[in-house]
Amino acid sequence: MNSLIKYEDAIRILRESARTRTLRTEKVPLLESQNRVVACDLNAEECIPVYDNSAMDGFALRSGEVVSGQNLLKVSEQRIAGDLPGAPPVNSVAVQVMTGAPMPNGGFDLVIKIEDVLKIADPAGGYSIQFDSLRASGGFVRKKGSDYKPGDLLVARGTRIDPKMILALAALGVSRVPVCKKPKVALISTGNELVAFDEPRVPEGAIRNSTGPFLLETLKAYGCEVRNFGIIGDETSDHPVEFDLALRSALSEEFDLILTTGAVSMGVHDFLRTSVEKGGGRILFHGVAIRPGKPVLFADFPDHPRTSLLGLPGNPVSSVVGADFFVAPFLRTLFGMKEGVLFQGTLTGPVPETPKGLRAFLRARVFALPDGARGVEILPGQGSFMIHSLSQANAWAVVPEEGGIGEGDRIRFQMFSERIDP
Ligand code: AMP
Ligand code: MG
Repeated sequence: MNSLIKYEDAIRILRESARTRTLRTEKVPLLESQNRVVACDLNAEECIPVYDNSAMDGFALRSGEVVSGQNLLKVSEQRIAGDLPGAPPVNSVAVQVMTGAPMPNGGFDLVIKIEDVLKIADPAGGYSIQFDSLRASGGFVRKKGSDYKPGDLLVARGTRIDPKMILALAALGVSRVPVCKKPKVALISTGNELVAFDEPRVPEGAIRNSTGPFLLETLKAYGCEVRNFGIIGDETSDHPVEFDLALRSALSEEFDLILTTGAVSMGVHDFLRTSVEKGGGRILFHGVAIRPGKPVLFADFPDHPRTSLLGLPGNPVSSVVGADFFVAPFLRTLFGMKEGVLFQGTLTGPVPETPKGLRAFLRARVFALPDGARGVEILPGQGSFMIHSLSQANAWAVVPEEGGIGEGDRIRFQMFSERIDP
C-alpha cells in the first residue's frame, strides 16, 4: 500500500475505468424484468388515457348546454367502463357515465358528479337530473394523452425496474424490455482461517466465511451474475498458485468484475497486490483514506479490457463498506445509472473520535424525530470486526475527512435500503 488517496479521487478513477466499458444488452419479458436495468431510453408509443373518459360516477354533459342557475336535463343513455363512446346522443340530454367510461361522442366535454345532482323521475318513464350550474363548471374528464403522449419519456436509460415501473410499462404495452445484460462477477474469498459458513464444526483457529455469502447476495441484488470461486488459502506463500489459477480463469472468461476479499493489507500473507501484478494487472489505486476499508485495491488488465478487479479487506464491516462505497458506484457506472446523493440528518448523540484525514463510515440508525425530520444515532461498537452494530444499523453515517462534528450537527448518511439505487 502506498500513500492513501482521497475517497473522491478513488471513485473518480473507478468510474472513469467503468465508463470505458459498455454492458451488452438483451430483451426480456416484462414479467422477468424486475430489478434489471433499462439499457436505453424508452419512449411512449401510445396515449394514456387511451381515450377521453370519465373520472367520476356521474353524468356527461355538453358545457354549451348548461345555463346559469338551475338546469334540468333528461338522462338518455348510460356508458360503463369498457363501452364504446357510441353514436352522439340527441341534443339537451345527459348521459350517465361510470368512472372510466368513454365520454359519449358529440361534444360531451364535462362530467357532473352523481352527488351533485337531484334525480327526478319522469312521468313518461326514465328520469332527469336537476343541478346548479355552479356544480357543472367543468372537469372530471380524463383527456386522451393527458398522462402520456407518443414520444414522452417512459423510462430513462439506467433505471432499475421496480413493480411500479412494471405498471407503467404494462399500461403502455411494452411486453419485452431492453435491459443491460447482467454484469458477470467472479467472487474470491481469501484466508487460510476461513471455513464455509455451513460447516457444522469450526476447527480451532478457523472462522466462518461470512462476507462471501454477504457479497454473493448483495451482487445478486444489484443484478449481477455471480460465480463464487469459494475460499482460497493463503498460508503457502506470498503468491499462492490457487489464486493465480482462479485469476487466470476469471480473466479468460471476461468477467466484468473480479471481487476479492482479504490479503490486501500489510500482513505477511497479503499477496493480492503481487498476484494481481504478476497476473498482468495494473494497480489503479491501493489504499484509500477511509475507515473502515482503507486497504481497498482497484486494478484493470490491459490485456483484458473488459475486466476490473476490486480487492476488499476481509473484515466483515470493511467488506460491507467496500460493497456500498466501491462496488456499488462501479456497477452503477457500468449500468449507466445516475450518481446518487447523500441525504442529511441531525446527530442525536455523540460521535466517536475519527482520525483526521480519513472519511469515516459509521454504522448508524436513522429515525424520525418528533417533527418528522431525520435524526441520526451513531451505534456503539464500531470496530471493523463487529457485526452486532452492523445488523442493528439501517444507514451509514459519513464523517467527512476534516471531522469536527458532534451532537446537534448535520451529518450526511446513506440508507442501507438505498444500497442499490441511492
Ligand atoms: P485480511 O483482510 O485478510 O487481513 O483479514 C482481516 C480480518 O478479516 C481477519 O481477522 C480475517 O480473519 C477476517 N476475514 C477475512 N476474510 C473473512 C471472511 N470472508 N469472512 C469473515 N471474516 C473474514
Ligand atoms: Mg487474510
